[in-house]
Amino acid sequence: MTKKLMVGKVAVGGGAPVSIQSMCNTKTDDVAATVAQIHALEDAGCEIIRVAVPDEDAAKAVDKIKEQIAIPLIADIHFNYKLALMCAERGIDALRINPGNIGGEEKVKAVADICRQKNIPIRIGVNGGSLEKELRAKYGGVTAEALVESAMGHVRLLNRFDFDDICISVKCSDVPLTMRAYTLLSQQTDYPLHLGVTEAGTPSMGMVKSAMGIGGLLCMGIGDTIRVTLTADPVEEIYAAKKILRAAGLRKEGVNLIACPTCGRTRIDLIPMAEEVERRLMNCTKNITVAVMGCAVNGPGEAAAADVGIAGGKGEGLIFRKGEILYKVPQERLVDALMEEIEKL
Ligand code: SF4
Repeated sequence: MTKKLMVGKVAVGGGAPVSIQSMCNTKTDDVAATVAQIHALEDAGCEIIRVAVPDEDAAKAVDKIKEQIAIPLIADIHFNYKLALMCAERGIDALRINPGNIGGEEKVKAVADICRQKNIPIRIGVNGGSLEKELRAKYGGVTAEALVESAMGHVRLLNRFDFDDICISVKCSDVPLTMRAYTLLSQQTDYPLHLGVTEAGTPSMGMVKSAMGIGGLLCMGIGDTIRVTLTADPVEEIYAAKKILRAAGLRKEGVNLIACPTCGRTRIDLIPMAEEVERRLMNCTKNITVAVMGCAVNGPGEAAAADVGIAGGKGEGLIFRKGEILYKVPQERLVDALMEEIEKL
């Protein structure tokens, strides 16, 4: 089991539920836009949020953002230890910073000291794309061993200053390499691991890469918190993360949506209907199975195990529960009627 740390009120590691993170793509010093995006992410199910802190204006926004949001806030900092100190003074819940890159032991000590005093964990975020030149040369490129050696080097720096509240990530855009690196890392450390596949891409390909990389590792028992990276609205990352956690068997709450593949018997425009149902149930936490079926002949029977479902007819559809037909509804009211039935469950 990994060690447990607290990012604000959210436990990470030590058997705590795997938490879902995302990162804002607003300008952090635009407090109104950043807070609005965080609220949308909170509503979608985001549990920890990170913002980029590239300069002092961004660092100065930390306390203003924090007082308006409900989930823990992480500052993502590259190279500049002063920004880390500023964020720590302004109530940040965690930092993502690589101590080996901030320019010397005195600076690492200053960051470690303030974070220890204020119980602020640090995530060491090693990234295949920015791996140290020496390690690339030593291993002949970006390898799992090189990524892990980089991460453990940063860990030792923090440990030297008596700092132990650490989370680690070793992300790459290459899925098998990411998986090898995390597997190796999990054999060498019991610090909690933050999983992700970087630059995963647009939602369709990014989802596949993340489901394989993050989901595969989770199925092996590796990983304590996850961030799906998509070239899309960050809300999509949260929905993707939830799906991965459900598919990995780590989250039970939420709707299991089943939909028929459609066939020559389909008498209704089923695909957009199934998509709408999925979208509208994304935040539903009821532990139920909902079916969206194409025809009344076989639909209710094929989906007899569903708690509730719809089956399409010609211009109208059926609402059924556990295979039993309840009533008919005009096609345009079908999804609304389904939602009303789900409300009653
Ligand atoms: S439920 Fe009906 S429409 Fe859907 S695949 Fe089965 S037979 Fe075809």
